[in-house]
Amino acid sequence: MMTPSRIGAHLSTSAGLAAMVRQAVAIGANCVQIFTSSPQQWRGKRYEVREVEAFQQALAETGIGPVVSHDSYLINLASADEVILEKSRQAMREEIARCGQLRLPLLVMHWGAYKGGSLEEGLNRLAKSLNALIPLAEDAGVRIVLETTAGQGTYLGGDFAQYPALFDRIPQHDKLGACLDTCHVFVAGYDLRAREGYERLWQEFDRQVGLSRLKVIHLNDTTRELASHSDRHANLGEGILGEDAFRLLMRDPRLIDVPKILETPGGIEQYARELALLQEFAASAA
Ligand SMILES: [Zn+2]
Ligand SMILES: [Zn+2]
Repeated sequence: MMTPSRIGAHLSTSAGLAAMVRQAVAIGANCVQIFTSSPQQWRGKRYEVREVEAFQQALAETGIGPVVSHDSYLINLASADEVILEKSRQAMREEIARCGQLRLPLLVMHWGAYKGGSLEEGLNRLAKSLNALIPLAEDAGVRIVLETTAGQGTYLGGDFAQYPALFDRIPQHDKLGACLDTCHVFVAGYDLRAREGYERLWQEFDRQVGLSRLKVIHLNDTTRELASHSDRHANLGEGILGEDAFRLLMRDPRLIDVPKILETPGGIEQYARELALLQEFAASAA
């Protein structure tokens, strides 16, 4: 029998970290993703020792893991604006520190955008940011994970070829992980709806990024067309991607150990329904 996949969802921590862990169990998740601070605010949250202890105890009791962190939407480590760039670097240092405090192993981040400059300059700024952040992440015991993006406008990370272009600028690039988002890659132009395109996508991902670097998968359907570069998530099977893409993913032995996280709309009840659907897809492989 195949070991069960790690599947979960992005959950709110507004009721506290321990409550979030219990909610993960309630919806049928065995891993989870969170924001460690408000994703719309520069000011970072601080955690009391007591809350961290209750969180660790809840994780130990339930076996939920990994708990993946996602960075704030405001952070742009490639920004051509000096003020935004420095604020972003400071906010990322705080993201890393919170991951260290909460003992979260993975910090998913967006590449940022180079608006006002060139693609090359954007990659240079992002690389410079990461070169300074990687040692801090190492000390905190967290791996920085770069998420594939929709590649809208001047946003970096929509083309797999940008990974090796970035890694060329980062001596310690082996410390970086990658996260593949099914909605983002589809609207960026990778068609994973049927077997042939699905295999082509992973071949290309392996060649440019490296499968061994893949640490997280975001499972989202989308309301937008292939190569539209527009990022709108939809519930699994209800968007343009359709169920087959997710069947292929859940039955892929290469991806068994990679945590798969829903970021779909509709809240807790939708998550529970979709997690059950994913279990069904995985089970039908046997
Ligand atoms: Zn995502
Ligand atoms: Zn998205």
